[in-house]
Amino acid sequence: MIELEEVTFRYAPGGPHDAGFGISVKRMRIGPGERVAIVGPSGSGKTTLLHLMAGILPPDTGTVRLGGQALGERSDAQRRRLRLSHIGMVFQEFELLEYLSARDNITLPARLAGVGSRALLHERALSLARIAGVDHVLHRKPRQLSQGERQRIAICRALSTHPTVLLCDEPTGNLDPASTHAILNMLTDPVSTQHACVVMVTHNHQLLDRFDRVIDSASFTGASTPQGDTA
Ligand code: ADP
Ligand code: MG
Repeated sequence: MIELEEVTFRYAPGGPHDAGFGISVKRMRIGPGERVAIVGPSGSGKTTLLHLMAGILPPDTGTVRLGGQALGERSDAQRRRLRLSHIGMVFQEFELLEYLSARDNITLPARLAGVGSRALLHERALSLARIAGVDHVLHRKPRQLSQGERQRIAICRALSTHPTVLLCDEPTGNLDPASTHAILNMLTDPVSTQHACVVMVTHNHQLLDRFDRVIDSASFTGASTPQGDTA
């Protein structure tokens, strides 16, 4: 479960004509068993919102709670541990580590969290990779993979720790329609099997009927119309 209350955030100003992009959320709660899609144009703050939810970006004001625990009241180390044990994150740019094989990228969060034996983690990586259709490339380094393969490895990594919260940033952006459906099933499975919640940024409006709720980025940026050009 993720809760945001009275959250505001603004990037540092980039200059006199760039006040810095900001987000404001009065109240947002994504409960166990919920599937939520985030939609909105490019540059409208979807990734920023996910990073606030994950505790990667600290809000300027307000509270972000993960599984009932306020992230702002934790030390960096505690926040990191909470993130590792609760959250599966699929980054828009994947963020795979170049010096690790695809398999070791998948098992990394579980190894950092210190859960599961090596054999168990390898087995889990293999079974996820099979479902995602990337089991034949597990020995390769990220740079030896296609964009779509990298994306699927990042999805396997997000699922490897059995997270209760899945935050996915355009996770099907590089996939063909058939893979998109398989991956969507993978990412929403934990909702029914483990009562997890899924928050997914997507531009694919054909997928929206697979979600319980759709949040438009205009609802957390306040201004849906760009200003400055008409004055
Ligand atoms: P989206 O994911 O919807 O495309 P983002 O959350 O990535 O949007 O970005 C929202 C806005 O914040 C954009 O105007 C972008 O330029 C700006 N932005 C993103 N990251 C930074 C940063 N690290 N510093 C300053 N501005 C940023
Ligand atoms: Mg984005």
